[in-house]
Amino acid sequence: MIAPLPIGGPGSYAGGRVSLATCHGKERVLSRPFHAALDLTVTVASGFDTDQLGTFSGERPRPADPRETCRRKALAGMAHTGLDLGLASEGSFGPHPAFPWLAAGSEWLTFVDSRAGLVIEEHLLAPRTNFDQRLVVPGDAIADWLRRVGFPSHALIARPHAPERDPGDGAGLLIKGIRDPAGLAEALRRCAEASPEGRVRLETDMRAHCNPTRLGVIRTLAFKLVRRIARPCPACGAPGWGLVERLAGLPCGWCGQPTERIRAELWGCAACAHQEEKPRRDGRGSADPGDCPSCNP
Ligand SMILES: [Zn+2]
Ligand SMILES: [Zn+2]
Repeated sequence: MIAPLPIGGPGSYAGGRVSLATCHGKERVLSRPFHAALDLTVTVASGFDTDQLGTFSGERPRPADPRETCRRKALAGMAHTGLDLGLASEGSFGPHPAFPWLAAGSEWLTFVDSRAGLVIEEHLLAPRTNFDQRLVVPGDAIADWLRRVGFPSHALIARPHAPERDPGDGAGLLIKGIRDPAGLAEALRRCAEASPEGRVRLETDMRAHCNPTRLGVIRTLAFKLVRRIARPCPACGAPGWGLVERLAGLPCGWCGQPTERIRAELWGCAACAHQEEKPRRDGRGSADPGDCPSCNP
C-alpha cells in the first residue's frame, strides 16, 4: 500500500497556483524557479496595492517588522486572488549589522500555505546593494556618485530637503523612478525650488522594478526558498525542511574551548517541532586559535 502524501506535502503543489503580492514586477524573477522546482504557477495579485503595507520612501510607514510585513503582504495577496497559496517579498536597507560603515539589504521571501497552516520563509543579508542617499544642490558635481549607485540602470528618488520637517510625513513633493539625465535635471530643479534651503535629497529607488541589483537578490532568494519548500521534513513529511540557525561554539584547535565560530547547523521543520543538528558543510572540526578567547584574548 502506498502511503498518502501528507496534506501540504511538496508533491501536492504540482499544477497549483500561488498568488504573488507585488506591484513592482517581482514575477520576472519568481515565476521560473517556482514553476521549475514545484510546478507552481505564479499569479500576480494585480490591482492590489502593496504600498498599503508601507513604502520604502517613507510616505507610509511600515506597520510591522519586515518579516511580519512580508507575511501580511502574502496573506493580503491571497485574500485578493482567493488562492490558498501565497508569496511575498520584503526588503529593508541600512547599515550592515556587523560592518556599520557598509550598506546592506535585508530581504525576506515568504510562502504561505493556508490549507496546511504553513509559513515557509527564507532570509538573505545582501552585502551587495546600491542603497545610498545624499544632499545636493542643482549644479553639484555628482557624476561619481551617480556612477556608484548605478544610475541610470538603477532609478533614483528626489525630494526637497526640509530639515524642520519629519522626512516620513509625506506632505511634500516626492519624485520616484527617475531613470534618465533629463528627468534627473527636472527633478533637481523642482525639488530645489520647493526646499527652503534650495537643497535636494537624492536617494536610490529600492523598488524591485527600479533596481536590477535588488531584483538579482530576490532571484537568489527564490532559488533558496523553492529548495526549502521541496525538502520534506524527515519526521512528518511536511514541506519546508531546512536551516533555521547556525550554532556558534566551534572548539579551539589548541585548547578545545568553544569559540564564536560556527560549530554546526540546526535544521528544522515549518510544521512540527522536529530539529536536527548537522555538522558544518566544510567538515571543519576546530577553530583557529586566533579566534579563541583564551589563546588570543
Ligand atoms: Zn584556545
Ligand atoms: Zn515536521
